[in-house]
Amino acid sequence: MSRFGLVIFTSLLIAACGPKQLEPDADFECSNCEDWNRPQEPFRLYGNTWYVGTAGLSSILIETDGGLILIDGGLPQSAAVIDTNIRSAGFDPSQISAILVSHAHFDHAGGVAALQRVTGAAVYSSVEGAKALRSGELQSDDPQFLHGPDNTSYAAIKNVIAIADRDIVTIGNVDVTAVYTPGHTPGGVSWSWESCALGTCYDVVYADSLTAVSAVGYRFSAGPAANQLIESAGTIAELDCDILLSPHPFFFGMQDKLERREEGNPFVNNVACMFYAESSLDWLEQRLKSEGKEKIDPAIIGDW
Ligand SMILES: [Zn+2]
Repeated sequence: MSRFGLVIFTSLLIAACGPKQLEPDADFECSNCEDWNRPQEPFRLYGNTWYVGTAGLSSILIETDGGLILIDGGLPQSAAVIDTNIRSAGFDPSQISAILVSHAHFDHAGGVAALQRVTGAAVYSSVEGAKALRSGELQSDDPQFLHGPDNTSYAAIKNVIAIADRDIVTIGNVDVTAVYTPGHTPGGVSWSWESCALGTCYDVVYADSLTAVSAVGYRFSAGPAANQLIESAGTIAELDCDILLSPHPFFFGMQDKLERREEGNPFVNNVACMFYAESSLDWLEQRLKSEGKEKIDPAIIGDW
């Protein structure tokens, strides 16, 4: 083989054997997308649990002795940010063997297909959530369905495993429990696990969105979603919960807590889940009052 041929052959070999590159899906456009997708430096929340998401959309990495677990994948254009964050936190994305999804909306599941391609991980959700993730489209009973497929669809996800309420995903020495919390979507799931450091263990809860938001034309009072939200808020309030996380970092006050890190670990707060549940019920109450009016207050219709 000529020297030139050897260089080409070697380059091809490196390309074939090197790390798999992230192939991003087309960017999703929405009024909040640019703001949500701003970069955020990854950081350790506690013990085995890391924040690797963007500034406005959470992604959580859990370290185990048998691989990594990722929760949520942000927007399609968040996948590259998350991949970079995982690497700069010192981890190898190819070690991710499970991707858990909170709810099947474009801003939390949109990046999952691309992240699955680079990691080869199986994706886990509830029975209803799995149906939506496999199609990349909202279910007809999703409160945001009336936004239409052009405004809500994202890349369909392969190898989605549907698990039952309170079933456990075990990777290495970490058990993550699925807790069904529907209402924001029909298939919403919260995830809970234990995180330990220096002999002190905390229960971490990644509480799914419990916000009563919808497309125009949907009424929470007309279907099961209002009661589902009430029940789900009760479920979250009753969980063992020392550290609250959620799909939008704003909901657990991430930036504010990051600024107070010198005061210890402000993410540890065993009443945070209760407050989270209460504030979602306040939101729902306002929403139901608003639905009693002829016109729904646009201030409480959003796209979270
Ligand atoms: Zn949502």
